[in-house]
Amino acid sequence: MALLHISEPGMSPEPHQRRLAVGIDLGTTNSLVATVRHGVSEVIDDEAGRSLLPSIVHYREDGSVAVGYEAAEQAAADPENCIVSVKRFMGRGLDDARRHRTPYRFVEAPGMVRLATRAGARSPVEVSAEILKALRQRAEQALGGELVGAVITVPAYFDDAQRQATKDAARLAGLTVLRLLNEPTAAAVAYGLDNGVEGVYAIYDLGGGTFDISILRLTRGVFEVIATGGDTALGGDDFDRRIVEWALVETGLLAAAPEGGSSTQGGSSTQGGSSSQGGTSSQGGMPSALDRAIEGGLITAGDLRAMLVEARRAKEALTSHGHTTYAVQLSDATRVTLPLSTERFEQITRDLLERTLAATRRALRDAGLDVADVKGAVLVGGSTRMPQVRVALERLLGKPPLIDLDPDRVVALGAAVQANLLAGNRTADDDWLLLDVIPLSLGLETMGGIVERLVPRNATIPVARAQEFTTFRDGQTAMALHVVQGERELVADCRSLARFELRGIPPMAAGAARIRVTFQVDADGLLSVSARELSSGVEASIQVKPSYGLSDDEIATMLRSSIGAAADDMRARALRERQVDALRLVEATRAALAADAHLLSPSELHEIEALVARLDQARQGADADAISVAADALARGTEAFAARRMDRSIASALTGRKLDEVRL
Ligand code: ADP
Ligand code: MG
Repeated sequence: MALLHISEPGMSPEPHQRRLAVGIDLGTTNSLVATVRHGVSEVIDDEAGRSLLPSIVHYREDGSVAVGYEAAEQAAADPENCIVSVKRFMGRGLDDARRHRTPYRFVEAPGMVRLATRAGARSPVEVSAEILKALRQRAEQALGGELVGAVITVPAYFDDAQRQATKDAARLAGLTVLRLLNEPTAAAVAYGLDNGVEGVYAIYDLGGGTFDISILRLTRGVFEVIATGGDTALGGDDFDRRIVEWALVETGLLAAAPEGGSSTQGGSSTQGGSSSQGGTSSQGGMPSALDRAIEGGLITAGDLRAMLVEARRAKEALTSHGHTTYAVQLSDATRVTLPLSTERFEQITRDLLERTLAATRRALRDAGLDVADVKGAVLVGGSTRMPQVRVALERLLGKPPLIDLDPDRVVALGAAVQANLLAGNRTADDDWLLLDVIPLSLGLETMGGIVERLVPRNATIPVARAQEFTTFRDGQTAMALHVVQGERELVADCRSLARFELRGIPPMAAGAARIRVTFQVDADGLLSVSARELSSGVEASIQVKPSYGLSDDEIATMLRSSIGAAADDMRARALRERQVDALRLVEATRAALAADAHLLSPSELHEIEALVARLDQARQGADADAISVAADALARGTEAFAARRMDRSIASALTGRKLDEVRL
């Protein structure tokens, strides 16, 4: 099948009048740049005819900077100055960065993490800018002119800080960002436009270090992301590590994993030597068996790197051939030579594949869909070349995945189509919209530390939602607003995004003020929150400034824990709600007593005070039933008092506000 073919009627501008725009897939492992030429979206190759640019930046001794293949060659020799997988650090602080196992020295400073290189401290934004600069130069050379702008793709789960960091990197590279586009959406654009498809599609993206699954609904002209999921610590690198573990077991260097993993059965042709000190690897999130090998001094950092490189080669060879030979020379001159078949490889990585399928099923459940609702799966990322991925997906969905477009290129191709439109090279047929999704719910803290969710997870953006809130106390003139993100019921379990205050609320009875809070998420996923008191019009608002974002792991953990904790959360929420109701009752009763105690006999007064004290004590505990019992008792015990106040109020024709107060 042809690549994207956009119909261009006679009215379309001549090629030389077209405004040059590109789509950039800024990947963790590899990056690409594409553009629409003569109505066809195509990847721009480098001078050597290569499409991929390894996302690697090397700060060289002579002060120059190498990017891509050239930089990759130095990864083993000069790991500290050769930055790989920098995308993991975008918009992240020091603590997040430290969670990855890397050879880098981080600069001790607040803010976005910075890496100490021989060229000085470099932020992930600056490193990414080098990659973008290389792609920009490649494009300008090939297209023969300056670019008007670029569409850059980001993972759907990227938060504000990560998106802002990506934009900053582009600006630093001299690129105008026409728009950030979610990677799965870009992939769907690449497919959807050409085929005019409709229906639900699963975008399955298995790259080098991450797995992302997105469920998209394509209707005429609209691409809507209806759910996202995945595993931010699962990618082709893990398959490589499994091969290394297997090789270490086969050579007797490592004891076989107790279950699930590899076994020591046969196949070993040579013994490897053990070696000196442990070290760090250039990759993050190592499985424990390898960790043990390194920490136990079974393998040097250099040997590990050599074994990983060979594992990747062997893995990729298996994609096109049924078997290969895993051969690597270790530093102590032992040579490991092991035959590896596709069957064996699939066996030692089956659980990794199964994890992607489980995440796929979960995303479908999130979207309220069944596998039967999925019209097709789009494959994205180099690791989807592995035949077992395609077989497993076909088995899960009951139909073969779409493979017409190269999974390495599909994201860049879709981004180029968007860039072409945004640059103004649009034709009459191209007036479609793009809708993306927010990865975690957004809400406000309410009394008792409970989250009131305004924008649910997976809502399509841009989105605006408003809700009315009221005051808790009589005469309250200011309200604190706390914006949180997450799936849990209690604020303490969510992420705090921002706080601000609405002041100047006219004093009114508790519950009488009407404060309208609006959440607005723009097309790039940036959030503004405003609060307005409706009678006076006083207003306050905040733009959620990119702060150090959540790590990918944290997002995954937050989603996972919200699923696991749903029942606990409901109980906790119910308790908090009762506590808040109880506090309101205690305060209102005390206020009523302060005003109208003369309506009661001393013994009546004493009894109500005792009931108030009992509820006040119960509400500070964690027994929801005890709170209910005490609240009911207080309500019953004050019925006569309330009636007396009511009679007196009506008799003296007091205002509505007073009536409100009386309503105990
Ligand atoms: P990212 O999105 O993280 O930048 P890519 O989509 O470029 O990553 O995928 C890189 C991964 O794809 C690597 O783990 C690489 O080994 C794997 N890969 C590339 N080609 C093949 C192949 N032919 N068979 C198996 N895996 C492959
Ligand atoms: Mg990718």
